[in-house]
Amino acid sequence: MSMSAWDRPWCATLGLDNVGESVEVVGWVRRRRDLGGLVFVDLRDRSGLLQLVFEEAMVSEGERLSGEDVIRARGTVRPRAEGQANPDLASGEIEVLVDELEVLTPAETPPFVIEDNVNASEELRLTHRYLDLRRPQMTSNLVLRHRVVATARRFFDEMDFVEVETPVLTRSTPEGARDFLVPSRVHKGGFYALPQSPQLFKQLLQVAGLGRYVQIARCFRDEDLRADRQPEFTQIDVEASFITEHDIFTLIERLFARIFPLVGIEPPQIYPRLTYREAMERFGSDRPDTRFGLELHELAHLCEGCGFHVLEKAAAEGRVKGLVLPGGEKMSRKQLDQLSELVRPFGAAGVLWFKRTTEGVASPAKKALGEDGVVRFLDDAGAAAGDLLLVVGGPERTVFSALGALRLHLAEEFDLAPVGRHDFLWVTDFPLLEWSEDDGRFFAMHHPFTAPHPEDLPLLESDPAATRARAYDVVMDGVELGGGSIRISDAAVQRQMFATLGIDEAEAQARFGFLLEAFRYGVPPHGGIALGLDRMVMLMAGRDSIRDVIAFPKTTSATCLMTRAPSEVDASQLTELGLSRPQS
Ligand code: ASP
Repeated sequence: MSMSAWDRPWCATLGLDNVGESVEVVGWVRRRRDLGGLVFVDLRDRSGLLQLVFEEAMVSEGERLSGEDVIRARGTVRPRAEGQANPDLASGEIEVLVDELEVLTPAETPPFVIEDNVNASEELRLTHRYLDLRRPQMTSNLVLRHRVVATARRFFDEMDFVEVETPVLTRSTPEGARDFLVPSRVHKGGFYALPQSPQLFKQLLQVAGLGRYVQIARCFRDEDLRADRQPEFTQIDVEASFITEHDIFTLIERLFARIFPLVGIEPPQIYPRLTYREAMERFGSDRPDTRFGLELHELAHLCEGCGFHVLEKAAAEGRVKGLVLPGGEKMSRKQLDQLSELVRPFGAAGVLWFKRTTEGVASPAKKALGEDGVVRFLDDAGAAAGDLLLVVGGPERTVFSALGALRLHLAEEFDLAPVGRHDFLWVTDFPLLEWSEDDGRFFAMHHPFTAPHPEDLPLLESDPAATRARAYDVVMDGVELGGGSIRISDAAVQRQMFATLGIDEAEAQARFGFLLEAFRYGVPPHGGIALGLDRMVMLMAGRDSIRDVIAFPKTTSATCLMTRAPSEVDASQLTELGLSRPQS
């Protein structure tokens, strides 16, 4: 008779306290070692490993076991023999001397060895994801993810938030990515869109008077995938009424004070705030990693009439900024050329370098600028002996992105971020609008319901690009964990916003008519934020890929190797939906 499942201990929870107890355990055979008259078996379950020993009459039972067999064993906990304790295991000081064994199901040899230092390809791992997830590291990622969600749910409940599920079959939402569409059988030619976020619904819940909404929400965006993107991902989605930016900041700071300690990270009580402008000027990024220096330095004022045509032109037409790498003077010509390669994809012509060595100063611009000119740049940027100054000139966007990327590259190459340090911050005052050269029009940088700064309202007409939004992002160690905004609740401002975006009355009605109508019947001022759960758990687990914290992720080409989705469907299913197979 086996004992109640709920009273059975997990493998790795047994220890010296249990010595002498008769226990029952279940799990998978990780490994068997036959020592002649003695068999050791490592048993694995979700919690970790436990050593089983088969002696005397039980030896033949132990010998039958092979890797990944599922077993139930009963036995007595005893300390391991002198010198045999394994400090790497939670249950490393004990073993269970088995007196009863049942093989529940035998297993075939799996396609790869199930252990943390797996050398199987990711393709093979994803094809047999259930085996991959059996690896302790992966199991613990899923458990951590659960703890984060459970902690968040508890926190929001205490803060009087109500979790509401919003539809998955809906219509296009305003996040601006490509939609996944689902054809309607009943309404042939009609399509549902999977939500890119619950944005409109969470705003409608504020009109409904809910006041505080939260949802662990699945979002879908049909975008080209990058390493840290998935076509479906999860947000901790939040919206509340009668609040300001400040209320969102304190809410998330309090939430993180509960979540991050789960992995021993203690965020500060209040995070520094940087405006978007300041973040770009100082770090060349709207999600700055502030764990190290290498801040961008203004150099345009030295360029006018300096004698070096390239710099003169860049300063006249755009921006010139640089950053100092302490001790960087040792970089070789080849390494410096590589830095130029690095910035070219951003549209920069290259990186102009200035060195201050013990012998003097050096730079490819020395001929044109003269020794004094080179010294002037180095002095102004604060470069000491042994330092390297790297300068980029050109259009503002190019200068920011090139130096921003250079900064991250150097920090990585020279290990500049101190181990164990974590920086949390808010970036505020994002531009409301983004100009698209390709489309010749403005797009909402966040989404069209984001409120402009009241004092910038006149700019919406006169200088739309300069209008600041009441939008904010929360950033940890250079990674955007989430973003949101205070929303427009004034119909006139919303009309003006649509006009600036080139959305006419008819289009606004067609796409968002239900929201605009709702706002006519008493809309509270409101705002919210969405946190990217996958990325947050990835950082907390110390992984580099969000696929490691998602149970069944897609590949970078948006396929599921295990289920083979997406797949073709029967002709009859297509007919029913009023669709035809594409001719290839
Ligand atoms: N819905 C937005 C997003 O998914 C977040 C927000 O504004 O709350 O990015």
